[in-house]
Amino acid sequence: MFNPTPPPMPEPIYLDHHATTPCDPRVIDAMLPTFGEAFGNASSRQHAHGKRAAELVEGARGKVASLIAADPREIVFTSGATESDNLAIKGVARWFASQGHGPRNMSGPGHVVTSAIEHKAVLDSCAQLEKEGLQVTYLPPNRDGLVDATAVEAALRPETVLVTLMLANNEIGTINPVSEVGKLCKERGVTFHCDAVQGMSLLDCSVDALGVDLLSLSAHKIYGPKGVGALYVRRRAPHVRLQPLFDGGRHERGVRSGTLNVPGIVGMGVACEIVENERESDARRIKPLRDSLLAQLREALPDLHVNGSLEHRLPNNLNVSFPGLDGEALVGELRGLSVSSGAACSSATHDSSYVVKSLYENNETVGGSLRFGLGRSNSTDEVVRAAKEVVNAARRLRETPPKTSIQGCDSISECVPGATSASAHRK
Ligand SMILES: *Cc1c(COP(=O)(O)O)cnc(C)c1O
Repeated sequence: MFNPTPPPMPEPIYLDHHATTPCDPRVIDAMLPTFGEAFGNASSRQHAHGKRAAELVEGARGKVASLIAADPREIVFTSGATESDNLAIKGVARWFASQGHGPRNMSGPGHVVTSAIEHKAVLDSCAQLEKEGLQVTYLPPNRDGLVDATAVEAALRPETVLVTLMLANNEIGTINPVSEVGKLCKERGVTFHCDAVQGMSLLDCSVDALGVDLLSLSAHKIYGPKGVGALYVRRRAPHVRLQPLFDGGRHERGVRSGTLNVPGIVGMGVACEIVENERESDARRIKPLRDSLLAQLREALPDLHVNGSLEHRLPNNLNVSFPGLDGEALVGELRGLSVSSGAACSSATHDSSYVVKSLYENNETVGGSLRFGLGRSNSTDEVVRAAKEVVNAARRLRETPPKTSIQGCDSISECVPGATSASAHRK
């Protein structure tokens, strides 16, 4: 609900950059003309208005391609990474199925390898393929929150048509050994898709270095607009074939029908250009902030537990559990912070998120977890204030007997079923 009266507190501190990021002002500036005089349909190439829009789109395509060291012809614009993941996974599997055989003349509908802690866009696409008769192996992460390349190798079968593995996890920030997996997929002739959404603002995502055939990207996780993304589709060695999700005007080389979202695409292009220029300096600045946040929390709450490897982790992510505390209750106390908890609120059970849960034994209790996602605009001062607020809230909750009421679930944070967010604007 929009609240017309301003909150009686300073602006809440935004520490949820894995869910979305604010648009960079340079992105907004570049998009504005596309709502005005540059309004053309990029497919109407017979006239000046269309040509201008097409030029803007091709300029953006070049910038997206440059960020991942690809050919512009390998970039397919989509409505976001959810669509990119669906297109990659269903597109490859259904193309092989439509040919009546897999890469090695296998019979049967095929097999897919993925991990148990992928984004729901990947997991649910795989579940749909299972309904269509394919088999799917969901590899559990190790205790560090990583999927070993050796585990992927062991899961490959003669009929495997696709491996899909994320670059970095959206909850615990762990970074998978993607280039190792890419190498072994190449050796075995298996198509390899990677959801790189969480890595692309801070890690090198060159497609050849990663060894990927398909790469999902999203603009709103890298300071671009919502509702636009891209799928990289390798053209050579191998030439990846996809069955489209939509029927229509055969835009984007026939892979993705639908009038191009020129404003969004222009914004994504500039967002990618900025990342290419500023990624390293962003990472150098943000990692010490993250490390300092952890140090301050640990100092006051020595029993807290970091979920997943600290070493193989995005420089802006921290995911910690607080023994004996409920994640949702904790988020509910953090009125001045926009952070996310992994606690489920879709039912009355206080389950921790499927990602955090997958790191531990069945009955192991690690306590409620909080996910911090730092970003470009966060300052040292904000980190100090955030740490203080979390520490105070944790102490308050430990002193008062546990409440039985469950925090309302008025916002689904990002993709985690039932994850909640707190901010000063909401109760
Ligand atoms: C946010 C996210 C997505 C979904 O991207 P949208 O553009 O919001 O559809 C997919 N994968 C990961 C890892 C994400 O973090």
